Amino acid sequence: MEPAWNDKHIISLRNIKMYFQGIKAVDDLSFDINEGEIFGLIGPNGAGKSTLFNCITRFYKPTEGKVYYKDGQGKVLDLDDYKAHDIAKTGIMRTFQNLELVLYVSVLENLLIGGHIYYNSGLFHQFLRTKKIKNEEAQNKARAEEILEKLNLIQYKGMFPAGLPYGVLKKIELARVLMTKPRLIILDEPAAGLNDAETEELAETIRQIRKEYNCTIFLVEHDMNLVMGVCDTVCAISFGKMLAIGTPEEVQNSPLVQEAYLGEKGDD
Ligand code: ADP
Ligand code: MG
Repeated sequence: MEPAWNDKHIISLRNIKMYFQGIKAVDDLSFDINEGEIFGLIGPNGAGKSTLFNCITRFYKPTEGKVYYKDGQGKVLDLDDYKAHDIAKTGIMRTFQNLELVLYVSVLENLLIGGHIYYNSGLFHQFLRTKKIKNEEAQNKARAEEILEKLNLIQYKGMFPAGLPYGVLKKIELARVLMTKPRLIILDEPAAGLNDAETEELAETIRQIRKEYNCTIFLVEHDMNLVMGVCDTVCAISFGKMLAIGTPEEVQNSPLVQEAYLGEKGDD
């Protein structure tokens, strides 16, 4: 049964629990993400962030609880009805912690490959290279160039990803995700491995994506820096349970959150 739906929300998590042989990795989490916001989920190592991420993307089926998502037609979907490989079709896109770029084809072609799930024409058209498919290819190329332009990546268009700085690759990966016209982008620790300057650039790219493509962005981060500078709402968890939810300032000032982070000081 669908919950009473607030039309501001794009995704609602209701009492999500994920247990692994007695470990309560996610222990009864509920929260909503508003359409168009940049939402951050933070927590110390082992808090359950990636597990929750995997419950949303259906890599795991939660032990208990529901994830509801409003699609582009305004229809509320129960994600129990979707398998991991179907999720992209609903407009939910994720990036992986390891880059998925093809290192020895151009940046532009990487975007075109990324856009492939969006091709409307069937195999028949693709095989015969009909006018329809040629039109689609031209449109995809124009979209790829526009995205590279808007994210300040156009200078890399003809280059191979191999050899480009890691911070640039992270941005190219986001550009590639945009090819599929996502409505909700979920990122698991996108700032991992980036230095401070690269993290700030990534924050700028995330703001730019929301502005230009009015997507909702769900950021999962261990590091507070990126989240505090870019998110409208932040939710902090520890041992699978909610510690605080609110503005970045509210969450940062929460004694429970400070305590949880102090507890792991030095292991990062
Ligand atoms: P985070 O991403 O916040 O660092 P995780 O979601 O990866 O945390 O892990 C939360 C807890 O669940 C940890 O105690 C971890 O060891 C445990 N865990 C995660 N995945 C599995 C799994 N597949 N099997 C057993 N335990 C797991
Ligand atoms: Mg993780």
